[in-house]
Amino acid sequence: MKRRKIILFIIMVTVIISTLAAYSNDTDTLQKELAETNRNLEKNRAEQKRMTDELGKIALQIQEYDLIIDKTEKEIKVLGSEIGTTEKKIDIITGELIEAEENIDQKQDLLGSRLNVMYKNGNIGYAEVLLSSRSFPELLSNLDMIKKIVQHDVDLLKFLEIERNKIEDGKVKLENEKAQLISLKNNVEDKKEQLVVSRGQQEGKRRELLTNRKALSDMEDRLERQANEIADEIRRKTSDGEYIAGEMQWPVPGHTRVSSPYGNRVHPILGGTRFHSGIDIPAPTGTEIIAAGMGTVIFAGDLGGYGKTVIIDHGGDVTTLYAHNSKLDVSEGDEVNGGQKIAEAGSTGLSTGPHLHFEVREDGKYVDPTSYVKRN
Ligand SMILES: [Zn+2]
Repeated sequence: MKRRKIILFIIMVTVIISTLAAYSNDTDTLQKELAETNRNLEKNRAEQKRMTDELGKIALQIQEYDLIIDKTEKEIKVLGSEIGTTEKKIDIITGELIEAEENIDQKQDLLGSRLNVMYKNGNIGYAEVLLSSRSFPELLSNLDMIKKIVQHDVDLLKFLEIERNKIEDGKVKLENEKAQLISLKNNVEDKKEQLVVSRGQQEGKRRELLTNRKALSDMEDRLERQANEIADEIRRKTSDGEYIAGEMQWPVPGHTRVSSPYGNRVHPILGGTRFHSGIDIPAPTGTEIIAAGMGTVIFAGDLGGYGKTVIIDHGGDVTTLYAHNSKLDVSEGDEVNGGQKIAEAGSTGLSTGPHLHFEVREDGKYVDPTSYVKRN
């Protein structure tokens, strides 16, 4: 649902951008288009911010999944080695069981040969009884005499059988333990598989968001260009007559430091070398910004990355621009004198801190403002 809204917004704005030029007739229309472009820029930036926030959350979730997956992998490893240990124990106990059974067989053989010897010595009647006896208890109850002779062997056999049963019980216990460990391991492996799937879903969301944000960012660039082009168009249409400003004044009284000069520079927010179309004069928010010279306000309002901006036409195709203000004191069409307060400094638009971005244009082309205004 959210995605469809974003795509719709992109299509809508793309249509607006491509049709804007056709409707650029008079200044009023241009002002409306500029306002529309700025609204779209605001929406665009808000949407990008929302996506960035969501990307942050997803990154945290992925990190969490990685931690849990790591933990389950360790669990699986521990269970695997426990199963190995149990198997070794089962091997040992199986050996012990075989030994115990061999021992019992030997004793039974011994008992058998003892009885055989008695038979050869002539105790045939007893031997027959003995040989037809189906169990030791029967044998014992039947023959008192033999009891004395074989008592020791029988006791020993009893003892050996008890021992063998104990070993067998142990083996069964170990086999149960092994079965439990295997089922535990299977459970943890299932859990891990689910976690990997969930992580994959988050990754998918992340990629999608990145793609959408990139599309919005590209559109933002186009909207910025569009806003600047409209503002240029407004300037071209309104600037005429003789140059009336005389010698210009420094636009921020009391603040003469230039933090970023005119010309090519590394952009503080966007990175990469970009052309800086004016000079930056740092000043606290609320500092008085004055008109550099007499002229007519041809733009006062939001201007894309420039934020709250004033443009003054001084005649002779010379205009000055004052950007990033916190508050504007003039409106379009106002006649201003040099030195008159027109705005208060701020950090609106694409800005890293409160400062005035000041531009001068001749015939619509950027020039170095320091050739017009001197620090005083
Ligand atoms: Zn600047």
